[in-house]
Amino acid sequence: MERVIDKVALVTGGARGIGAAVALRLHGEGAKVVIGDILDEAGQETAERMGSGALYVHLDVTDPQDWQTAVDAAVETFGGLNILVNNAGIVNFAPIEDYTLEQWNAVIAVNLTGTFNGIKAAIPALKQSRGGSIINISSIAGMRGYEQISGYSASKFGVRGLTKSAALDLGPHRIRVNSVHPGVISTPMTADIQADMSQVALGREGHPGEVANLVLYLASDESSYVTGADFVIDGGDTAGTVTRREET
Ligand code: NAP
Repeated sequence: MERVIDKVALVTGGARGIGAAVALRLHGEGAKVVIGDILDEAGQETAERMGSGALYVHLDVTDPQDWQTAVDAAVETFGGLNILVNNAGIVNFAPIEDYTLEQWNAVIAVNLTGTFNGIKAAIPALKQSRGGSIINISSIAGMRGYEQISGYSASKFGVRGLTKSAALDLGPHRIRVNSVHPGVISTPMTADIQADMSQVALGREGHPGEVANLVLYLASDESSYVTGADFVIDGGDTAGTVTRREET
């Protein structure tokens, strides 16, 4: 019950979906948690559900000033920062020939530049804590292409590269940086998507809590020798091609 006891975590996009599950899981294992999001009402509710040791702050990840406020809130309220989960993300759809520059700029700003902003903002506080763990939520769309989401896929490949480069720069400061690559997870983001689960080895969508379990490992000292790595959690979606499924 205390795998991240005495640690302070900041989770972006923590109002709902995977981010909320991560916040709840870390809090349940002893961490103090700051939830950042642009959905103020839902974020406040999630923090209240967690009770003491949890705080909501308005954090638009595209805004460096919001980042400074959020990191300051973690340090002032809970005494420092040890864990950053860059989870906030958006998706938009169109075939590449119809995909607009506006769509491209929006998804890159949140998913990729937002992650860059977060790493930059957290470094001084993580160094002050003599190390820490940064977990960047990418996607299996950061491992291979999918139709109609060129901007999203580019942003998630970018997060994967940013993670590896930052891990090299921050290793000497004992700051670990890893990326997590979920497959289809049942959240508000995927509520309207009809996903074909026949190509998934486990034959089903994942749950936010299953991603949270992996993030918890990467946030805790159990992963003390793990950095610059990418972790796929997709029920076997990217493992290969399913050609024949036996009824069970
Ligand atoms: P979600 O349910 O839509 O939650 C994402 C949260 O981030 C929402 O509260 C969203 O608010 C917020 N957000 C959006 N823009 C933001 C910004 N500029 N600053 C701060 N917060 C912002 O999505 P999810 O499914 O939990 O996804 C979480 C992460 O996992 C994302 O990075 C996503 O790309 C990644 N992922 C998800 C899946 C999946 O199948 N669900 C698969 C692979 C990767 P709004 O509602 O206002 O946008």
